[in-house]
Order: sequence, then structure tokens, then C-alpha cells
Amino acid sequence: MKYLSTRDTQKTPFTVSSADAIKRGLAPDRGLFMPESIPTLTSEDFASLLTMRYEERAADILARFLTDYDKNLLLADCTAAYAADRFPGGAAPVVHIGDNIHSLELWHGPTCAFKDMALQIMPRLLSRALTMTGEKRLAHILVATSGDTGKAALEGYRDVDGVKITVFYPVDGVSPMQKRQMTTQRGENVNVCAVYGNFDDAQSGVKSIFADKQLAERAEENGFFFSSANSINWGRLAPQIVYYISAYCDLVNNKTITMGDTVNVCVPTGNFGNIFAAYIAREMGLPLGKLICASNANCVLTDFIRTGVYDRTRPFYKTMSPSMDILISSNLERLLFLLGGSEMTADCMAQLSESGKYTAPASVMEKLRDVFAGYYCTEEETASVIRASFTGRKYLCDTHTAVGLGAAEKYRQETGDDRPIILASTASPYKFPADVLKSLGETPASEDPAELLNALHNISGTAIPEPLAQTLTLPVRFTQTVAPADMAKVIFE
Ligand SMILES: *Cc1c(COP(=O)(O)O)cnc(C)c1O
Repeated sequence: MKYLSTRDTQKTPFTVSSADAIKRGLAPDRGLFMPESIPTLTSEDFASLLTMRYEERAADILARFLTDYDKNLLLADCTAAYAADRFPGGAAPVVHIGDNIHSLELWHGPTCAFKDMALQIMPRLLSRALTMTGEKRLAHILVATSGDTGKAALEGYRDVDGVKITVFYPVDGVSPMQKRQMTTQRGENVNVCAVYGNFDDAQSGVKSIFADKQLAERAEENGFFFSSANSINWGRLAPQIVYYISAYCDLVNNKTITMGDTVNVCVPTGNFGNIFAAYIAREMGLPLGKLICASNANCVLTDFIRTGVYDRTRPFYKTMSPSMDILISSNLERLLFLLGGSEMTADCMAQLSESGKYTAPASVMEKLRDVFAGYYCTEEETASVIRASFTGRKYLCDTHTAVGLGAAEKYRQETGDDRPIILASTASPYKFPADVLKSLGETPASEDPAELLNALHNISGTAIPEPLAQTLTLPVRFTQTVAPADMAKVIFE
């Protein structure tokens, strides 16, 4: 399986192996790497996936995309990544929360957010890629984060041989708990730095470092090269395909559905990585119906799905679901590529960077709306979903999952489509305790994270995740804040 760029318009596109795509992160023309075709699953494949454990399903699916990797090593890496000591509550358990809505809990890993699902395995894939491509230089991972990616990447890459990592986060764009998790990070090869501005400023800063030839040369002279851990890296995206397939298999195994039944999927969306992985699973032949794209008040994707106009020139809102406070959803580029080809994609992306907007052709939007539906929740709606879910469903959800649940309920109501819904539950409620408490109608006595965790525990009776409890006692190691223009300086210092 070869990989090509979403923006490559040459007759014979430039292609690389999967190891090379993972090592590079971004294609040379700043497009995103995509497999040249999408493998499909036969009924025999599904029959065998049904009998597998999560890590075996992961290795099986990854092997179909990462064809240059050794299958036994993939299984060994997946087994280590999704082991019970890292995911004590299971890698991707499915919980029925009433009305045939099934919460796919992706937050039982070391940082209590779904990004662990990819970032526990991706460093292992990169480490193999460096060996497979005979790489002598050090890989310097650059991450722009709206909160959860940063911590999950730091945990995944810390003290991995041949790798260093620098994480940039928007100074006022993450929750106090997220900030604490990152600034207390342990490990010899890690650096964490705040950036003035919002997530898009941080992400644009990282993207322009990747695109800067002079900086690349300077890195070369110092014996390293830049690589990414953001969801623009195929090594991040591929592992996310697995849990939709796994959830479907679990629903078949527990007799909620019969093999072949279609189910809908709802995903709280920011950078469009998680929901795009669901789309790939669907393209592989997983019987998924509608993919419901849930946004918060930064509803650029809802508007796009409904109007065909992608317009980032709009007010930016800081919401209680900060990991979805994004106006440039990078992975949407991959969907455009699949639906409309590289020429159209390159054109739309050029317009986006010049004027902040583009209009997708009607033919593309028609195909897109066959599969995707877009809904968003305001802050008030999100809070009332948290409250109603806790009292009515007896299910405590975090602010991001609540946006998803609210969107799923709106979709059901508006369309009458009552097929089962797999709801991607993307963070532990303990990761956003202040907003969850306020949504429940509580007035937290203080902003102190320890007290917030205890208050939530007392009200809900659920256990405080161990990694969050630990964070509270670790010393803060990183305090630097810089302007976007000084991000490169931080790396070389
Ligand atoms: C990153 C994140 C999202 C958004 O996922 P994308 O792949 O960027 O769409 C949603 N919820 C949480 C908790 C996240 O950390």
C-alpha cells in the first residue's frame, strides 16, 4: 500500500511507503498523506474479527494499511499499547445508555481522553518506521494542542528512544486540569510551552515550522528532523479506524444487533480526525449508516455540511468543550480528496489559506450529505444534556461527549431515524470537573482541582481515574509562554 498527498495533481503522483508517511507526517506539498486505496473487509474477515480481543483487532486492521510493517511486530506493539495496565477499564468498552444509544468509552487510557487510543500506539509505529527507513537522525515531534492531544502525545512519546517532543498549547485555551497535566509532565525528552493566541494560532505556527526550508536545514545540521503527532499524521488516524469496527463487533457479540445491521455513529468533532476514521471504517465495508458530526458553538462544520461553504472567518468562541474549539478542521481535507480528487482539494485549500473560506462543488456536497449529518450544541444545550443524562440516563458524561449526545438526540428527533447509535465518548468527566459540576447545578466551593475531583466523586459515586489523582501531586516543570512568531526559537533553544 502506497501513500500519496491529498494535493498532488501530477499525472504520476509522488508516493511513499506507510513507514515513510508516518515518519514524514505532512506531505512535501503540505497536503496530507492518504492510502492510494481503501482495503475492504469480507464476511470472513468480520467473522474472525468477532472472535478477537481489542489488540488483535487493532493489529489486524492496521496490517491492512501498514503493509510494509511486520504483522507479528504490529501485534506485539498493539498488545503493549492497549494492555490492561494502561487501559484498566478496557481499551474501548461499549456502554448502553438508553434509547439504543451506545457510548463507546475511549477514555480509559493514561490521560483519560480518546487521544490515548492513537497516541499509545503511534510512537511505536514511528520508532519502527525510523528503523525500517534506516533513519540516523533524531525525530523531533512538534504538537499543537487544544488540550488533550498534548498530554496524550507527551505520555506516548516520553523517554522513547530516538525521539524528542515539544508541545505548544494556547495560553488561555485549555482547562486548568489539562494545563496541570501537561506542565507536570515527566520524561527527559519532553518540552511544553504556552503560546499567546488560540488553538489555530498554535497550529498555524507548527504548520509553518514544518513548511520552512531554512528551519529544516538548521534541524538537519543539528542532527534531527521535524515530525508531527497531530491527527494530520496517518499514524494517528489509522488506529482510530479500529474502535468503530471493534464497537460494532461488540454489539454483534452481545446480540444488540445482527451482523449486517446498519448503525449510526455520532462523533464530537474538532479537527475531523475521529469522525474521518469512522468514514474510513464505513468505506472498508463496516455497516454504518449516517455519521453525525457534532460541533459546539464553533459550528464551522455544521454550517459547511448544510451549506457547502466552509468559512473560518467568524468569531471564535471559548467553550467548555475546548478540544473542539477549532475553526480549521484539518482532516476534512482528506474527505474532500476522497470525494472530489486532488485538484479540487488543492484548490479549496489554497482558497482557505488565502481568504479563509471556500465553496465545495455541489456534486461533492451531495455525496457528503449521503453520509454525514451536522448538528451543533450551544453552551446552554451542552449543560442541559449533562444534567439530563445524569438524572435521566444515570450516565455522567464529560462536556465533549455531551455535545455528541445532544447532537445525536437532535438528529433522532429531526429525522426519526431510530437505528442504534454508537456515540464516541471522548473524555472522562473528571477531566472537566468544574464545567460538569456547574452543569449539574452545583456551585464548586473552589477552583482547586483536588476539591473539584472530590466533589464530582461525591455526587456521582464514580471512581476518580488514577492518572488524574496522580497529576495533582506532581511538581510543575514547564512555565514558558511565547508569541507564535517565537515558537521555532523555543525548539532550537
Ligand atoms: C480531540 C478531541 C475531540 C475532537 O476530535 P477530532 O479528531 O479532533 O475531531 C473531541 N473530544 C475530545 C475530548 C478530544 O480530546
